[in-house]
Amino acid sequence: MSALPKEALRRGWCPSTLRPMETGDGWLVRLHPPGARLTPAQLRRIAELATEHGNGLIEISARANLQIRGVTAESHPKLVERLLAEQLVDEHEGDGPQRVTLVSPLAGRDSTGLIDAAVLAAQIEHRARNVSGLPAKFGIVVDDGGAQALDGFASDIRLLGIGAGRVALCLGDRLWLGPIPETDAAAAVAAILPGFAALRAEAPDQIRRLRDLSPAALAGLSTLPVTTAPPPRMPARRAGLFALQGDRFAALIGLPFGRCDAATLERLGAVQDKADIRLSPWRGLAFRDLGRSEAEGLLALADDLGQITRDDDPRLSVQACAGSPACSRAEAPTMTDAAMLAEAAADLLAQGATLHVSGCVKACAHPAAADLTLVGQDGRYDVVLGGTTRDKPVATLDLSALLTRLQPGHDIHARLKAARSTGSQG
Ligand code: SF4
Repeated sequence: MSALPKEALRRGWCPSTLRPMETGDGWLVRLHPPGARLTPAQLRRIAELATEHGNGLIEISARANLQIRGVTAESHPKLVERLLAEQLVDEHEGDGPQRVTLVSPLAGRDSTGLIDAAVLAAQIEHRARNVSGLPAKFGIVVDDGGAQALDGFASDIRLLGIGAGRVALCLGDRLWLGPIPETDAAAAVAAILPGFAALRAEAPDQIRRLRDLSPAALAGLSTLPVTTAPPPRMPARRAGLFALQGDRFAALIGLPFGRCDAATLERLGAVQDKADIRLSPWRGLAFRDLGRSEAEGLLALADDLGQITRDDDPRLSVQACAGSPACSRAEAPTMTDAAMLAEAAADLLAQGATLHVSGCVKACAHPAAADLTLVGQDGRYDVVLGGTTRDKPVATLDLSALLTRLQPGHDIHARLKAARSTGSQG
């Protein structure tokens, strides 16, 4: 394999299998499994490869991407060779997105869904591959309109089931169009993509996503009629047992902070050999098409392994990077500390507060602002309220002081609670 171009390692690229991204613990290699699905045997094999060619840490991102961490310049060619030879990835040429669609991990089997989002997403992937000029991070959310709402995930184009076989489209997360039959939706998206690519080609530095277009330019992308925005829905359950069509079940398992070691994945992948595994944007794995007792048994094992099996687990609401010892730049053991901080702040997290624990200012896990951002600083944490890792801290505290001051009656708890009720940080 030829050497990677230097720019392929710059942070900011959308990484893929062939174009890894440099991080504090080596290269991060993103995998796109064929058809966005895995068998248990494939999951176990990926876990083995992550140990052989990376540092054994595996992630699932908030875009449901599978990532192997700690790959090196020497190990990368061998890893790629195995992934391609064993057909564990579906990589295509070019700078555009490797995968554009985001669906619920239950898509196509969820008895509450109004459309088959899995089939529609596959049709869109097929068509999007023939469109050049799309940005690498371009994203299309395909939401079946059922209980697993994807409202919280930003998109360039959103397709939402609004009735049996009927779909509404949203451009740039602000202009709603339709409704149209489900069977026409892939063609409607395909008609929009070249127009956006052409506008982007005229001003690539200003137009990166659909949201960057003017209202007139956005409206000019489609001839579909404007419609009203559908009402907001209840948030999805992100972990636990789910009933599927046909009296089958799914075990949806969250990885704490979207990350686990290879041994954990191997254990999970060894239990139910017939499961149909999908990646979850709630940073986990759905093991589908199981009997009820099989799914419950898998959830019990996952719980024993320290994984997330309940929707009220406070770790689901916390962002944390790999931290020390995995990352050479880390100034704090973020993963273990984040688990304790999540427990301490559980009441605030349940009210919607956001917590980001970062090993350094680089903010690999969450570049955006959070209600409480903690930045590793020589074994302690800089405390930022309502900002990012690069904002001015109000204090520098050790873990023990943080755990105390997150309790009711203490100052950080009070400030976060006040920020929740007023919608701003003081
Ligand atoms: S944010 Fe975390 S993972 Fe990223 S470089 Fe810093 S310590 Fe490492």
